Amino acid sequence: MTLNNTCEPILKGQRALVTGASSGIGSAIAKALAMAGAKVVINYAGGADRAQAVVEAIQAGGGEAMAIRADVSREDEVEAMFAQTIATWGSIDILINNAGLQKDAPLVEMSLAEWQKVLDINLTGQFLCSRAAAREFLQRGVVPELSNVAGKIICISSVHDIIPWAGHVNYATSKGGVSMMMKTMAQELAPRRIRVNAISPGAIKTPINTAAWMTPEAEAELLKLIPARRVGEPDDIARATVWLASDDSDYVTGVTLYVDGGMTLYPGFDQGG
Ligand code: NAP
Repeated sequence: MTLNNTCEPILKGQRALVTGASSGIGSAIAKALAMAGAKVVINYAGGADRAQAVVEAIQAGGGEAMAIRADVSREDEVEAMFAQTIATWGSIDILINNAGLQKDAPLVEMSLAEWQKVLDINLTGQFLCSRAAAREFLQRGVVPELSNVAGKIICISSVHDIIPWAGHVNYATSKGGVSMMMKTMAQELAPRRIRVNAISPGAIKTPINTAAWMTPEAEAELLKLIPARRVGEPDDIARATVWLASDDSDYVTGVTLYVDGGMTLYPGFDQGG
């Protein structure tokens, strides 16, 4: 066994792109990757000011970051974002597919537009960014000074890739799709020295789900679904992401890491069943 007994930051010199990094989980991941030594692209769609604030927070901590606007569901915008990243920093080593949203409605009231928008951003967006990243990883190959592999892709999914979710058929379907897309990409790319994994968060305090934890009553209901009896924080996801992006997880590919306080442990059965 070899130990990393230097004091070098674990991702020193690597270049990362985090989609949807202007808010919530993406912003925490971007800051954590920067603290671990990576340069980070802060992708956003509409929140230019919030993206700039993340860039400035990283710079204030001595890190390097730049904001790039791109709608991840638009092929031309994704291609332009990767071209700008590679032109500026030479290449890319880590992709975090995080951008996502909800457009909730009961099945019989859901419009085709609500279905399509969520699939386009949550699933097709991850496909477009993964394809662009993998093309660059493959043409560049392994750079041993940076990492044991040519690149890492981490897909932010959800516990709803396995827990059905009434009233959210578009969202749950998009995350189920992310799960199979991730495993298929991992199988296809492992021989080419690219690792692909997913993180499935449980309930994390971010703007996407404010209603679920904002009042004490709502939070008490939510905690019934979480054996650890606390709502997660964006940093819970960020710490797991740094590990999956580093060579410390070098033999890990094609897995989904559930960071959910036990939400996927069928908490309704905790008194027997
Ligand atoms: P959030 O705070 O609402 O942040 C969503 C981010 O996605 C924002 O930065 C937003 O950018 C970006 N985004 C939305 N549409 C985009 C597009 N078309 N192109 C590029 N970026 C776009 O949500 P969050 O809770 O951090 O969620 C992040 C990810 O975690 C999502 O994939 C979500 O499904 C997943 N997740 C969250 C939870 C949770 O409990 N919070 C649980 C499970 C999974 P702009 O602000 O610039 O539009």
